[in-house]
Amino acid sequence: MTTPPAQHAGPAAPHTRTAHPALSATDPELAALVGAEERLQAATLRLIPSENYVSGAVLEASGTVLQNKYSEGYPGRRYYEGQQNIDQVEQLAVDRAKALFGVEHANVQPYSGSPANLAVYLAFAEPGDTVMGMALPMGGHLTHGWGVSATGKWFRGVQYGVRQDTGLIDYDEVRELALKERPKVIFCGGTALPRTIDFAAFGEIARESGAVLVADVAHIAGLIAGGAHPSPVPHVDVVSTTTHKTLRGPRGAMLMSREQHAKAIDKAVFPGLQGGPHNQTTAAIAVALHEAAQPAFRDYAHAVVANAKALADALLERGFTLVSGGTDNHLILIDLTPQDVPGKVAAQALDRAGIVVNYNTVPYDTRKPFDPSGIRIGTPSLTSRGLGTEHMAAVADWIQRGVAAGRSGDEDGIAAIRAEVAELMAAYPAPGLPA
Ligand SMILES: *Cc1c(COP(=O)(O)O)cnc(C)c1O
Repeated sequence: MTTPPAQHAGPAAPHTRTAHPALSATDPELAALVGAEERLQAATLRLIPSENYVSGAVLEASGTVLQNKYSEGYPGRRYYEGQQNIDQVEQLAVDRAKALFGVEHANVQPYSGSPANLAVYLAFAEPGDTVMGMALPMGGHLTHGWGVSATGKWFRGVQYGVRQDTGLIDYDEVRELALKERPKVIFCGGTALPRTIDFAAFGEIARESGAVLVADVAHIAGLIAGGAHPSPVPHVDVVSTTTHKTLRGPRGAMLMSREQHAKAIDKAVFPGLQGGPHNQTTAAIAVALHEAAQPAFRDYAHAVVANAKALADALLERGFTLVSGGTDNHLILIDLTPQDVPGKVAAQALDRAGIVVNYNTVPYDTRKPFDPSGIRIGTPSLTSRGLGTEHMAAVADWIQRGVAAGRSGDEDGIAAIRAEVAELMAAYPAPGLPA
C-alpha cells in the first residue's frame, strides 16, 4: 500500500510522511491536526513532568480492535461473552503489574488517575467522612480532598503542607494533624513534590491514627519500577498510580494492594464507579509494564533522576530559586519571584521558545493559582529522547534566556532559542513519532 501525500497544515516539517493513511483519507482535517501535533512534539523540548513519549509498541496497542469489545467485570467473571482474548490481555496486564511492583493485587481498569482515587474513597470511606491529603497549592493533587474536587465536596478534607523554611513535609505536623482529625483515609504523594516521600513515616502515622494509607505515585511510578525511588509497597495499604507519566504507558491508571483489600478495590472500580474497561488501554498498559520490566528501563529511570539533578544544579548556578533547594526525583519547581516574572508570563515565553512547561503555584504563593509565581519542569520526556546530563547546562541556559526574554518582550531572542532547541531535538528523535 502506498501512503498518500501528507496534507498537513502548519509549518514545513522535517518529516512529511503520514503514519495514518486511513485517517488522512477519511478525515484530512483531523489528520492534519495529528500531524501538526507530531511535529510539535518532535521539534520542542517538552519539560512538563507529567508527560512523556510512549513507545511505538504502546501506541500500536492502544490503537487496536480491542477497543471494539465490551468487558464489564473481571477476567473469568464477565457480563459479556466473547472474552477469549480480552481475558488474557487483562490477566497479562495484572500479572505484569504484580510482578513489577511486588504487590499481591492489581486492578488495571481505572480510566485515569482521578477515577482511580475516587474508587479508593468509595472502597474505604462514606460521604462526610474525614480524609486527609496534601493541599493542592503545596504540591498535592485535586483528588486528595481539595475543596473544588468531588473528593473535597463529598468528604471532609483536612490538608497538610510543607514547611515554609525548607519546602519539605514536616512529618511531626502530619502526625499531629492525623491524631487530631482521625481521617478514614490518608493520601501521600502529589503532583509537584521534588523530594523523596518517606512512605515508612506515613505508614507509622496511618497505623497510629487508624487510617487507610494510600500512596498516590502517579508521578513517580516509573522511578519506583526502575528502582530510582523507594517503593511504598511495604508501608501502605493501597498504591494508586496513573500509567502515563514516568511509567511511560497509555493514559490510564492502576490500583494495587495486598490481597486483604482486593475485593473492596475491585468492587469500587466496577460496578461501583465504572462500566466497561477500555481494553485497548489495558493492552497498552500490559506493553508498558513489559517494557518497564526490562533492564533498559532501570537505566531510563536512573537517567531521569540524574538529568533532573544536573538540571537543578545548572539552574541554581544561574541564580534560580528552587522549591526545597533542588530535587531527588524527576521534577523541579522554580520560584520565579526573585526574577520578577510571573509564572504564566515565563511559561508562555518558554512555549514560544519551543520549551514546554507549566506554570504552577509554589508553597505559600502570594500570587493567585491562575497567575502563580512558579513554573514546574521535569526530565521524563527529554530522557526518553536520549538527552543526558551533558545537555542540562544548555537546557538551563535556554530557560534563563527564555525567562529573561519573556520579561523584556524580546521576541527575537525567543525565536533564536526556538531554532537552537529544534536543532538539538532533531538530533534526538522521540520514540513513537514518525521518523
Ligand atoms: C496526575 C495525577 C493524578 C490524576 O491523574 P489523571 O489521569 O490526570 O486523572 C492523580 N494524582 C496525582 C498525584 C497525579 O500526579
